[in-house]
Amino acid sequence: MLSEEQLARLIAEKVAEELLTFRRCEECVRNRDSRKFPDGFIPIGVSARHMHISQEDLEALFGKGYQLTKERDLYQPGEFASAEVVQVVGPKGVLRVRILGPVRKQSQVELSRTDCITIGIDAPYKYPGDLKGAAPITIVGPKGAIYKEAGIIQARHIHTPPDAAERLGIKNGELVSVKVAGERGVIFSNVLVRVSEKYLLQMHVDTDDANAAGVNCNDLAELVRL
Ligand SMILES: [Zn+2]
Ligand SMILES: [Zn+2]
Repeated sequence: MLSEEQLARLIAEKVAEELLTFRRCEECVRNRDSRKFPDGFIPIGVSARHMHISQEDLEALFGKGYQLTKERDLYQPGEFASAEVVQVVGPKGVLRVRILGPVRKQSQVELSRTDCITIGIDAPYKYPGDLKGAAPITIVGPKGAIYKEAGIIQARHIHTPPDAAERLGIKNGELVSVKVAGERGVIFSNVLVRVSEKYLLQMHVDTDDANAAGVNCNDLAELVRL
C-alpha cells in the first residue's frame, strides 16, 4: 500500500515524464526524414531515464513469453518507447523507468546523475556499448524482480549516418566538442561519434546535460574545433 506522499510523487513523476519526453519529441519524430540543418549543426535529442531490456529479463519482470508493446516511435529508426514501465529501486528511493524497444542482448538502465542521487546509487559514466562496472540495482516489474549490475549514466554521443559524418568531418569513435548557444550556453566535450547507415543525425544528451544547458529536443548544437 502506497502512502499519500509516495502516490503524489509517482503521479508527479509520471506527469513530468510525459511532458518532458513526449511533447518535446513528438514533432521531431514526425518530421524526422525531411529535417534540414544548417552546416555544422546537429539536432539535440534529450534522453530521459529509460531502460533497454533483454528478452530474458523482460520475461522475469513481466512473465513468460512476454512481448513489449510499442507505444510510439523514437527519433532513431526502429527504436520505440514501449508501454511497459518498471520500478528501479536503490537504497534511498524508487524511480519509474520506461522500457525502450526492441529487446537487446543485454539490459541496461540509463539514469542521470540526479536520478542516481535520488535513489542512492553511484552509477558510472559510460559510453554506449560498455556496461563494465555498472551499478547494481533492483528492477521491479508486475510479475517479478531482478537484481543486477545494469545502472549507468550514458555518455553524450552523436548518432550520424555516413554522409552527414563526412559533411561534418567527423569519424566513428572520435570524441568531439559541441557548443550549445543561448543564455546558459555550454560546450560539451568528449561527445562520442557513432556512425551507422541506420542512424539519423542527432546528438543524445541526458536530462542533466539538457537542463544545465537549457536546451530542449528541437534545439541545435554546433560542432566546434577546440
Ligand atoms: Zn538508451
Ligand atoms: Zn543515442
